[in-house]
Amino acid sequence: TVVTRFAPSPTGYLHVGGARTALYSWLYAKSQGGKFVLRIEDTDIERSTQAAIDAILEGMQWLGLDWDDGPYYQTKRFDRYNQLIDQLLAEGKAYKCFMPAAELDAIREQQMAKGEKPRYPGTWRDRTDHPEGQPFAIRFKTPLEGNVTIKDHIRGDIVIANEELDDLIIRRTDGAPTYNFCVVVDDWDMGISHVVRGEDHINNTPRQINILQALGAPIPEYAHVSMILGDDGKKLSKRTNAVGVMEFRDDGYLPQALLNYLVRLGWSHGDQEIFSMEEMIELFSLDAIGQSASAFNTDKLIWLNQHYIKALPASEVAEHAKWHFDHQGIDISKGPALEDVITAQADRVKTLKELAAISAYFYQEYDEFDEKAAKKHLRPVAKEALILVQTKLAAIADWNPETIHAAINETAEELDVGMGKVGMPLRVAVTGSGNSPSLDVTLNLLNQAKIEQRITKALK
Ligand code: GLU
Repeated sequence: TVVTRFAPSPTGYLHVGGARTALYSWLYAKSQGGKFVLRIEDTDIERSTQAAIDAILEGMQWLGLDWDDGPYYQTKRFDRYNQLIDQLLAEGKAYKCFMPAAELDAIREQQMAKGEKPRYPGTWRDRTDHPEGQPFAIRFKTPLEGNVTIKDHIRGDIVIANEELDDLIIRRTDGAPTYNFCVVVDDWDMGISHVVRGEDHINNTPRQINILQALGAPIPEYAHVSMILGDDGKKLSKRTNAVGVMEFRDDGYLPQALLNYLVRLGWSHGDQEIFSMEEMIELFSLDAIGQSASAFNTDKLIWLNQHYIKALPASEVAEHAKWHFDHQGIDISKGPALEDVITAQADRVKTLKELAAISAYFYQEYDEFDEKAAKKHLRPVAKEALILVQTKLAAIADWNPETIHAAINETAEELDVGMGKVGMPLRVAVTGSGNSPSLDVTLNLLNQAKIEQRITKALK
């Protein structure tokens, strides 16, 4: 069975690169009826923080990338790693290295001076004259000959000669197992069948395969995903793009839009741009992921966001929009149902942040009129129209879009003016601005008493 994992190091928030890797991993598991594991690689105690763990979990939850197993924490599994290191040592597949750091540094410097790749020369690999009471690291015996072949779904077979690899440290002098070793043991213990991760890990893969082989563990299949570049074609960076997943939430994107955007950033299915979650799961394949780096395109993300704000059921949009109203200090507990406001406003906004900002008048009094709109439509010409329409609106017995429409219509007829001469002042009076959904819809969402008050306020 297919088991995939997402294995972030908690040294920062969840960024879009990580989110895309997680999505691909998650989609592959779902598409194969498999399992998706979340593993926190917190062995770097200096740089790992609880805040980062929380941020990663928050990002995954916001995206809806739920995990079937975990989260596992590597720091809780040290006993297991150490047990296997001792086993390799006992089997002669690993050895104690007593070389002091300064000596290794000197060797490396010489190698680099000669234009060689710096590598540990295997000094202690076969020595038995171990000094008493001296600190030592444990190194893995990399095979001296032969090749390692990475079967990569994106890049095809990648062949690396063992000669290129040196004997890596699997337990440091201070007793801590090292990163590559922990990953290997976890992938084995957690039954990972497919490793989907960033291409920055490709150098680790042959080392990890050698260790898996030494442990007698099965070798997973791999998919090393290319980088994401910024809007400017350079490495994605905070200075030019939003990079943290939760920043996209703050900026008013729907997770559905970001997921759809990310899935297409490196993967394609013909020229289809819009994928529901079900379609993604059905159509996704590791083999269709492209090899080249993809550039972030904010305009396209905005386009998708607009699409999803309009296309998703209003109740689903509302779940995410609520946060923005709260965040902007707009209390939606009294006033029209958020779903109805969303339905009315959906084709007027690009983001949920905008949605909340332009919908405030449904829930609270606006502070001031939009100056331009007020000048143009409200003052000094509109008194007569507002007074008459106020009376007619107040007299409505059954408040609904039709009766509202009729009241506005009658006012225009009685005053012998165009609809706009009544509608625009009324719009400014009710919403504070010259821009809103149609008046019958807007007024209907607000109650009759509130409309009367707002017109009175505008008449002052
Ligand atoms: N912990 C690694 C990272 O955050 C991922 C390692 C892996 O996927 O094997 O980059």
